[in-house]
Amino acid sequence: MSAGRAAGAVDALGPGLPVSLSEGPGGAVGRGMAPDAAAVAAPVLVVGAGPAGLAAAAALGRRGVPAVVLERADVVASSWRGHYDRLHLHTTRRMSALPGLAIPRSAGRWVSRDDVVAYLERYAAHHRLDVRTGVEVTAVVRDGDRWLLEGTEAAGDGEPLASPHVVVATGYNHVPAVPAWPGVEAWPGTLLHARDYRAPAAFRGRDVLVVGSGNTGAEIAVDLAEGGAARVRLSFRTAPNIVRRSTAGWPAQATGVLVRHLPVPLVDRMGVVVTRLGVPDLTAYGLPRSTVGVATRVRQGTVPLQDVGLVAAVRARRVEPVPAVVGFEPDAVVLADGARVTPDVVVAATGYRPGLESLLGGLGVLDARGLPRARGARTAPGAPGLYVTGFTNPISGMLREMRIDAVRIARAIARERAGAGAPSVGVAQR
Ligand SMILES: Cc1cc2nc3c(=O)[nH]c(=O)nc-3n(C[C@H](O)[C@H](O)[C@H](O)COP(=O)(O)OP(=O)(O)OC[C@H]3O[C@@H](n4cnc5c(N)ncnc54)[C@H](O)[C@@H]3O)c2cc1C
Repeated sequence: MSAGRAAGAVDALGPGLPVSLSEGPGGAVGRGMAPDAAAVAAPVLVVGAGPAGLAAAAALGRRGVPAVVLERADVVASSWRGHYDRLHLHTTRRMSALPGLAIPRSAGRWVSRDDVVAYLERYAAHHRLDVRTGVEVTAVVRDGDRWLLEGTEAAGDGEPLASPHVVVATGYNHVPAVPAWPGVEAWPGTLLHARDYRAPAAFRGRDVLVVGSGNTGAEIAVDLAEGGAARVRLSFRTAPNIVRRSTAGWPAQATGVLVRHLPVPLVDRMGVVVTRLGVPDLTAYGLPRSTVGVATRVRQGTVPLQDVGLVAAVRARRVEPVPAVVGFEPDAVVLADGARVTPDVVVAATGYRPGLESLLGGLGVLDARGLPRARGARTAPGAPGLYVTGFTNPISGMLREMRIDAVRIARAIARERAGAGAPSVGVAQR
């Protein structure tokens, strides 16, 4: 795909200024420049035009720091465009807005997928972000005092783009992850990842097993049950912590914000009370209460399951909870209790991998799980000027976290460029 510009996007340096990244007063992105001069003039390179990258670029712009957003798709918000039709944010409209632009009231409290996409498009235009689409960054490499972004040659007149400041925002939910189930290759049924699920119409009359009891799995199971699937099972490895999305108007996310920094054992105990008061015991239906506390699970990377129909569907026996999938046989799917079930379709709502290894793997900035060792306004030792955002899954909401990180990253870069301080080096404690 050739490099293009997103609809509504204008040059970050102002309309009318040269579009080429290698020309113009502020358009130079480090080619042939001394690093100190480049540090003043080169736009920050932001990789990814999802909410995290757009927020970072906007926050930089608000501080007068030019930024160029590089996006491999041909549009902004490509991840959101690919999500299933039924999806609404589980976080509130107000607490999901990015810096400098509210989500309109007309989108309602729980914003639909389409309204998220519309908001992100408007966001890029409103902040006059310079988004270069069709540019896939293949690796970030150190070159003296700056970072070179490989794969960007077409956007940089044959040279890779470079800048002393880079923000990586390629998405936590990046590479669909499907367990390596034994025997799966010989199973003749249809196996798809949740990323490829859009709507229930294609599954009407089919027997579907949804694997994974996170928010996505639960919501797809309900969607299928309501949309005419003949039978819907929901397989879980660990019983989820189920909470109500809101109680008497008070959103679960607001509780998450309040308890986020409290001690884990305390939040775990509070979680027991909240889930018992708010959600009926579904043990008789095959879905026991979680034995692992809410905050402990969040630490392990799993946020609570917000009920948007699962509880009612389980009680109506329209969604049947079943144990984990342990393998496949030519004519059956094998569950952890030894049972064999025979669905036509398996939807793997089994999460994603951040997939940062190819991009940042050689830099020593990733931990053993492939997650950035430093996030937000902090940079990893040995990687000054390299910021990473969007790689936490906090109980307080990812979009809210991206907003906070964007403002902090912009402040840190602006300070550095003003010569007020060295990059903040350290490992984020989240
Ligand atoms: C089903 C689902 C529901 C969610 N609901 C909520 C919610 O209710 N509330 C909430 O706060 N969070 C929610 N999240 C989490 C999070 O807010 C979203 O995943 C959000 O889209 C993450 O934003 P991001 O910018 O980090 O990543 P993405 O939106 O994935 O954007 C990353 C962008 O980077 C681009 N890219 C990737 N690699 C490259 C490359 N090498 N070169 C150039 N471009 C690249 C991609 O094409 C993409 O456009 C949800 C997530 C999912 C999956």
